[in-house]
Amino acid sequence: MALSLQQQLTDAKRKLDILMENMPGGFMTYDATNGKFVELSKGLLAIFGCEEERFREHFYNTFDMLIYKEERKKVLELISYQAEHQTNIHVNFKIKGMLDDVMYVEYRGRKVRESSGQVLYYAVLTDVTEQVLVQQEMARINEELYKRNAAGEARQEEMQKRIRMDAMTGIYNKSTMQKVIQEYLAESSPDSLHAVMMIDTDNFKNVNDTLGHLFGDEVIKFVARTIKNTFRDSDYVGRVGGDEFMVFMKNTTKEVTEQRAQALNEQMCRKFEKDGKSIAISCSIGIAFYPKDGVDYVSLTANADDALYRAKEKGKNRYVIASRN
Ligand code: GH3
Ligand code: MG
Repeated sequence: MALSLQQQLTDAKRKLDILMENMPGGFMTYDATNGKFVELSKGLLAIFGCEEERFREHFYNTFDMLIYKEERKKVLELISYQAEHQTNIHVNFKIKGMLDDVMYVEYRGRKVRESSGQVLYYAVLTDVTEQVLVQQEMARINEELYKRNAAGEARQEEMQKRIRMDAMTGIYNKSTMQKVIQEYLAESSPDSLHAVMMIDTDNFKNVNDTLGHLFGDEVIKFVARTIKNTFRDSDYVGRVGGDEFMVFMKNTTKEVTEQRAQALNEQMCRKFEKDGKSIAISCSIGIAFYPKDGVDYVSLTANADDALYRAKEKGKNRYVIASRN
């Protein structure tokens, strides 16, 4: 027996009701012109955990009021834009719960003109708060990990630098000088010419004794700067003792090396004054050449040291070359 239209309609309505009540989300319709709610499903009310009347009252019976204030304008524009330009609307946004708590929903819907002429938005809202919060937490953890990593790397780099450098003057320390010179010599051909200079400040004890230890520290920094400025950036400059420094000149000539030593002797002849007391410093330099005076770090530095000793013996404020022939 054929069902009457009325019966068919009743069946269809029941199916729809069952669907609406059991879908994982809520369904609503609201007026496109004034945003007033028309139909609210049980599933929708379940998202908010309240009765229909209280829900309508809380949100002034208007869809717009559901949206978080800061996002309201943007979301409404997005919905109306999508309604005009595409078949389905799909927007995610932040809403206010009944206790003004933050919730996130996914909105899927369509703008429909009813037979009555009324224009409605049909919308299915799904609560995606959990997903969004988990995503936000993951983003936060990722960012934190990234920051920690970056900080860790920066700290490590700083530590490495401190290990390589002399803390007072910021130039290489003795072990770094040894390492970089040895590495450089390992790659050197005996056809090239390099120079090792040992430089010791003359009468430095007098600086400490006369002007004080702190002033002495400042003079050591001055000496480091002066030496650094006398040589090319590519040369290695380090502090290898209290008032003793070392320079490794790469691919140099005897003439240039002597010119630099001479220039350094001149730069280092300085008088310091404090509280009416004055003290003069200068420097003595011992020079050894690769490969003539040695092909390895130990023999080159030993010969440069020996030449430095002779410079001191000869009356300081001068340079001496290890082998003069
Ligand atoms: P010479 O002319 O023979 O080189 O003698 P000098 O007075 O310069 O003394 P020497 O080179 O034998 O010794 C260096 C002195 O530098 C020893 C120590 O008292 C002082 N000194 C070493 N390190 C530091 C430091 O970091 N700060 C200060 N203020 N003094 C230092
Ligand atoms: Mg000295």
